[in-house]
Amino acid sequence: MATYIFGHTNPDSDSIVGAISLSYLKNALGEDTIATRQGKISPETEFILNKFGATAPELKTSYAGEKVYIVDFSDLGQAPEDISDATILGIVDHHKLGDLTTSTPLECWIRPVGCSNTIIKEMYDYHNIEIPKNIAGMMLCAILSDTVIFKSPTCTKADTKACKELAKIAGIEDYKALGMEMFIVKSAVSGATARELTTRDYKEFAMGSEKVGVGQLEVVDLSVFDNLKDELFSDLKKLKQEGSLHTVMLLLTDIMNEGSQILVVSNDESKIEKAFNVKLENSQAWLDGVLSRKKQIIPFLQPQF
Ligand code: MG
Ligand code: MG
Ligand code: MG
Repeated sequence: MATYIFGHTNPDSDSIVGAISLSYLKNALGEDTIATRQGKISPETEFILNKFGATAPELKTSYAGEKVYIVDFSDLGQAPEDISDATILGIVDHHKLGDLTTSTPLECWIRPVGCSNTIIKEMYDYHNIEIPKNIAGMMLCAILSDTVIFKSPTCTKADTKACKELAKIAGIEDYKALGMEMFIVKSAVSGATARELTTRDYKEFAMGSEKVGVGQLEVVDLSVFDNLKDELFSDLKKLKQEGSLHTVMLLLTDIMNEGSQILVVSNDESKIEKAFNVKLENSQAWLDGVLSRKKQIIPFLQPQF
C-alpha cells in the first residue's frame, strides 16, 4: 500500500513542490509513495509546474487508514479532517510546531529555515540521492517563493545556499530573474473571484479560545487591489461568519516596497492595533517592512488572545 505525501490546505508552491520532491526522494530510497494535494493549484504553482514540465499531484482530501508524510505544516487546522485516522510516518516543516499528535514514532525534519524545500534539499544531500533537473528547478522556485526572493526575514543562509546549488543542477543562471517572473504571474488578480483571492494563501490559527484567519497576497504592485477592496472586505466578513472566527485579516503584501497593507474584520479591532502598534483607519493599516505572516504577524497576534 502506497504512502501519501502532501502539504497543507490551500496549498502553496512549497506544499505542492514539497510533495513532489519528497515523494521522488522516498521512492529513490525504496519506499512506495504518491504525491497528493489537499486543494486547488495556485496560478504561481501552475507557472512552476508548466515551466518544468511536471503534472500536479492528484487531489486527495481523505486519508483515513492511510500512511502519510506531511510537508510544510503541523497544525490540525491545515490538515485533512480525518488526519487522526491516518498514520503519520514523518513531518518535514519550517513553521512553529503545531498541534498534530501521533500514536507512533515518526521521522521529523523541522528547522527554522525559509522553506520546506530547503530541508528536502538537505535530505537529498544526507541520503546522497541525485536531484533530477526538473525537480531541482521546481524546488528552487518554491524557495524563491517562500523567501520572497530572499527578502523575507524568514530567509536563512541555508535557503540561499540551497538555491545556488539547485539552480546549478537545473541549469538556471539568473534565478532572481526567474523569481521576479514568478511573482509577476502571482500578482495577476484579474478574473479571480473575491473568494479565490481571500483564500488563495489563507490559514486559520487557534489563538486562546478563538480562531483567527490570516490570508496573504504577495504582489509586485498594490494598485491591482485599488478597485477590489470593497469586494475583498465583504468576502472577509463572510469568511469570518462561516468559520465562526474572531478575526479575519488579509495581508496585501507589496514585495517591491517591502510592507503589507492589512485589511481587518474583527470582533475587537483593538487587539490588532495593539499587536502591531498601529491605528486602523477604515479597518486598514500599512505595516512597513512586514513580509512574513509566520514571523511578523502570527507571533504578535497570538499574545493578544
Ligand atoms: Mg506553505
Ligand atoms: Mg513553506
Ligand atoms: Mg508564503
